Amino acid sequence: MQFVTSRSEALDKLNKFIENDVSNYNTKRNFDFGATNRSNVSCLSPYITHRLITEYETAKLVLKKHPFQKVDKFIQEIFWRVYWKGWLELRPKVWNDFIDDLKIIKEDDEYLKAINGETEIVCFNDWINELKNFNYLHNHTRMLFASIWIFTLRLPWQKGAEFFMKHLYDGDAASNTLSWRWVAGIQTKGKNYLAQSWNISKFTNNKYKNVKINETALPIIDKREYKISPIKINNNEELNKHLIIFENEMFINLNEIKKYKKIFFVLLSNESRSLKLSKKVLDFKKSIINSQLNDIKYEAELLDENSFINFTLTFKSFDVIYPSIGENLSFLKRLIKKNHLKINYITRKEDEFCWRFSNKGYFNFKSNLPIILSTFKLN
Ligand SMILES: Cc1cc2nc3c(=O)[nH]c(=O)nc-3n(C[C@H](O)[C@H](O)[C@H](O)COP(=O)(O)OP(=O)(O)OC[C@H]3O[C@@H](n4cnc5c(N)ncnc54)[C@H](O)[C@@H]3O)c2cc1C
Repeated sequence: MQFVTSRSEALDKLNKFIENDVSNYNTKRNFDFGATNRSNVSCLSPYITHRLITEYETAKLVLKKHPFQKVDKFIQEIFWRVYWKGWLELRPKVWNDFIDDLKIIKEDDEYLKAINGETEIVCFNDWINELKNFNYLHNHTRMLFASIWIFTLRLPWQKGAEFFMKHLYDGDAASNTLSWRWVAGIQTKGKNYLAQSWNISKFTNNKYKNVKINETALPIIDKREYKISPIKINNNEELNKHLIIFENEMFINLNEIKKYKKIFFVLLSNESRSLKLSKKVLDFKKSIINSQLNDIKYEAELLDENSFINFTLTFKSFDVIYPSIGENLSFLKRLIKKNHLKINYITRKEDEFCWRFSNKGYFNFKSNLPIILSTFKLN
């Protein structure tokens, strides 16, 4: 499995998937046929997570070629991501609590055995190695993995979410944190996802049989309640001279950037991250930025956090493509406070429109898909 790093290559991958494979997605998507046989899923998440391609253009290209009923599952999965992002935007404390929880959880021998792939459970050990080698896991496998981690190995879900973020090329604050919470049974309170031996056999095409796991565990209990807080993003019509782009918001409208004197891509090192990333993941992010720098042919530069901090000593006011709740926004908020910055956020109108539907469950969000698709002429 080879992941590309430029927008044009990512679009090629998307177009090939639309041409050859998306029509089988409805029936085949739940099977994990192994790292060398992934045509039943798109493997687009590393590009969508960095917004090298957006959810909306992906849906539009798919629906240009296929009627909704033939690709409904794929479109719904794409919008799961949008839903999760909106859900976290409306409840930012969930992210802060997750980061704070990690500060007090100890790494014991059981944890070390798990992350080194040295447990009694062969499929789990294989998935640990697959994750480290390919920086990707199939969706169903992520669910099975998380379930075994929490309910059979009895490890804290927060450490599993941290481990995924370290190694996944598509590591995403919202999709990852909330999916782990969902498996644990604290996202939909009292409803956990329990892996079953038959389920592992069936969806790995019988690669693993009679796996001994806890199939009856009760959900994790977390009494914290998260009330919805209105999304407040400071944006106005008047643009500044400089635009800042973090690595998880790489889609650029070329006409829009012409209004800026210069743009800066910012990539935080592990020094400034609460969740440390593997070298491979950081290198992948850097390659994506370098591809964009090559492609856009515009006055632009890559900054690490120290050069960015220096920049803010001279420029107190600039535009930032809104990086959403997560590592980049947390860093930026600390800097705004420390250096008294005045930020104008550039948001995407599609995000703002969709996120309002993340106030309840996905079923409710999904019922608004027709209005989302028609408002932005995606179908
Ligand atoms: C415990 C756990 C952790 C996860 N962590 C992440 C993460 O850090 N980043 C991430 O992008 N996804 C995450 N997911 C969701 C999902 O597993 C991946 O998006 C998907 O496996 C990516 O592979 P694909 O591109 O081949 O997906 P496809 O099945 O081809 O789906 C197409 C696109 O839809 C979106 N999508 C699909 N399923 C989901 C889902 N359940 N939730 C949100 N978006 C989805 C992705 O953008 C994906 O690229 C996680 C799921 C679980 C259970």
